[in-house]
Amino acid sequence: AGFLPFEHEPYFDFARAEVAQAQRAAFGQVRERYVGRTFDLLIGGEPAQGDGTFAVCNPAVPGEALWHFQNATPAQLGQAVAGAQAAFETWRFSDPFQRASIFKRAAELLRARRMEFNAVMTLENAKNWAEADGEVAESVDHFEVFAREALRWAQGKAVYPMQGEHVTTVYEPLGVVAVISPWNFPSAIPLGMALGALAAGNTVIWKPAAETPLSSLLMIELLFEAGLPRGAVQFLTGSDEVLGDPLVDHPGVRMVAFTGSKEIGCRIMERAAKVRGGQRWLKRVMAEMGGKDPTVVCADADLEAAAQGIVASAFGYAGQKCSACSRVIAEQSVYDGLLRRVTELTAELRAGLPEDNAAVGPVIHAASAERIRGYVARGRDTARLVLGGGGEGAFVEPTIFADVTQGDPLFREEIFGPVLSFTPARDWEHAIELANDSEYGLTAAFYSRDPHKLSEARRRLHVGNLYLNRKCTGAMSGTHAFGGYGMSGTNAKVGGPDYLFWFLQTKTVAQRY
Ligand code: NAP
Repeated sequence: AGFLPFEHEPYFDFARAEVAQAQRAAFGQVRERYVGRTFDLLIGGEPAQGDGTFAVCNPAVPGEALWHFQNATPAQLGQAVAGAQAAFETWRFSDPFQRASIFKRAAELLRARRMEFNAVMTLENAKNWAEADGEVAESVDHFEVFAREALRWAQGKAVYPMQGEHVTTVYEPLGVVAVISPWNFPSAIPLGMALGALAAGNTVIWKPAAETPLSSLLMIELLFEAGLPRGAVQFLTGSDEVLGDPLVDHPGVRMVAFTGSKEIGCRIMERAAKVRGGQRWLKRVMAEMGGKDPTVVCADADLEAAAQGIVASAFGYAGQKCSACSRVIAEQSVYDGLLRRVTELTAELRAGLPEDNAAVGPVIHAASAERIRGYVARGRDTARLVLGGGGEGAFVEPTIFADVTQGDPLFREEIFGPVLSFTPARDWEHAIELANDSEYGLTAAFYSRDPHKLSEARRRLHVGNLYLNRKCTGAMSGTHAFGGYGMSGTNAKVGGPDYLFWFLQTKTVAQRY
């Protein structure tokens, strides 16, 4: 009630010649405007230079340095925390309508520049047009959703009344939130965490992944243009020696909001648990981590829909999504047919440059490709290679292994690349068992036409995001609250109705008149 109607931002239709032409032109404009430039840190609302710079490279073109960013110093980390603490004293009391207005304005500004933001992302992390567009559209949705969430949480909540007292339950912000993000969703992920913090009245230290800082910086500048006080976000780039452990350990940081690998998420949890000198709180940690996401296909399923969903979710953005399907578990009777169809569809995917909108581009860098190729090499000994297995430099061919067993690293470990494994199940219940046999629990897809199996899947699949008769990627802000079970993390559910609670503390006030 009282909220503006919400609609998800529609995607561009790149099949239309004029739309494709405009996106192509945006690459030219981005190259002209940004390539070769060096970007500053933002501390206390002011630009600052660090101790030298580092290059951000185009994953698709070996040796092409795009732009440069600063290496923040330890002293600058301290200044940024102090700046965020100072800004908190004002922003914490800001009117939620002011926060909502800023986010609404930022949504408008971003709508007008979507193709530019798409192009920057494609150059930084090698998403093709549709993948980049999906993420930038999600960022528009985040602005719209968090504008509404800021107002909703400002209303407080009703409690059971008591004679003689007037009791209110209200939510207050925490303080300085360190936002630490991965390269695979370089706009929407840091933006979601930062807007959660800001909508609740906290201030932010925004530390993007080293591979993709411009996608972050453009969002921050957009927020400033929309009216966000400049001290409310401090932007730091640089090495993990300065901005990894020391940022997490800093006694002035009240909360760490992290999305990334299991390894770093666990490390942050452990370090943040230690109370440091001068620290006046127990640090809160949000850690959203990896996945090993299954697609279950029952014998009665629409096999063509399942095959299409599997290919899109396993090989979109070269499988570099925490939500990507990496395990297919199919009932024995449809296993061979499904494997054949998935292999056919995958073989049709065109490899090439993301800037030319190829279906399959490179992975984030050659080192990552080497790591993935290691899994493929070992998999040749433990499973049946059906497709792919090759690739050069940062390019890894879409690869399919069949007859993968439960103990195989192909079944158990997050590979974070275009490698898909097939495992047969005796029956649909065995398929659910296999799907649940993972330390992770992020997303799962389940295909069946049988209402009983669908409702059993609902109850039994141990994941934070379950998709019935559709693919397991493509969560939409405001609708598919996102976050996993188990070692996929703290289940914070970005874009969902409870997300802001993570960034708030609850105050009960009882008054007698
Ligand atoms: P990562 O290596 O864990 O890095 C994530 C962020 O942590 C980066 O900004 C990184 O900085 C920073 N970092 C590195 N060492 C740190 C330390 N000691 N303390 C604090 N921060 C530190 O992950 P990634 O390779 O960028 O991303 C891929 C992973 O993210 C996959 O596992 C994927 O499943 C997961 N992911 C999860 C979700 C989700 O919602 N659950 C969404 C997307 C991705 P540098 O870049 O400077 O090293």
